[in-house]
Amino acid sequence: MSTIAQHLQNVHIRIDNAAGKAGRASRDIALLAVSKTRPAKDVEAAWVAGQHSFGENYVQEAVDKIIALKTSCPDIVWHLIGPLQSNKTRLVAEHFDWVQTVDRLKIAQRLNDQRSPHMRPLNICLQVNVSGEASKSGISPSEAETLANDVVRLPNLCLRGLMAIPEATDNSEALRAQLLELQHLFDRMQKKHPQMDTLSMGMSNDLELAVACGSTLVRVGTAIFGSRNP
Ligand SMILES: *Cc1c(COP(=O)(O)O)cnc(C)c1O
Repeated sequence: MSTIAQHLQNVHIRIDNAAGKAGRASRDIALLAVSKTRPAKDVEAAWVAGQHSFGENYVQEAVDKIIALKTSCPDIVWHLIGPLQSNKTRLVAEHFDWVQTVDRLKIAQRLNDQRSPHMRPLNICLQVNVSGEASKSGISPSEAETLANDVVRLPNLCLRGLMAIPEATDNSEALRAQLLELQHLFDRMQKKHPQMDTLSMGMSNDLELAVACGSTLVRVGTAIFGSRNP
């Protein structure tokens, strides 16, 4: 078994254990393998081990991998999880399946206009800044509700949920408070938009807590591929 395959198995065990403790079914928590800075061959190794969803942060790097792997790994589902500038929306609309970092209407409109109606609608998560840190991208919880009402009117997009990168902290109670706030916002918005089925939170270091707080999609890089070079 490859190292990547072993790491994947360990992450699945962590998800299963966390789900069990939270009284949830592990099939309700999806794993997104975060392959930023990793070569296409690492993505392929994870794919061979059964991993089919991958997250990327940098548009051009991702598009190179998407094209390189099109024939060898035909059914990969690609998520953009990094910041998106308007001059990159066309590449994203043409190549990705999901964008988790939508935080303004202008970007959503461009993605909608540039997504071919012959392709499946582009799945969208709104990035919410629960910590209120000025430096972080993402919208406030109240802005998320307004943006959702606009995004659902765009025919080439499908609003799927919320994504957050909580403020890094050693204080697990402070982290839990942020994750729970996101869960409550998600529950409230889901009542109005029942197609929202994705709450994207949790990374290598905090996936157990995120699963306890209702995450349906954990984004894991280091625990699968090893630590990244800065
Ligand atoms: C890099 C990254 C991850 C993965 O982080 P790890 O700590 O390596 O698991 C998850 N989400 C986002 C948005 C990232 O940029």
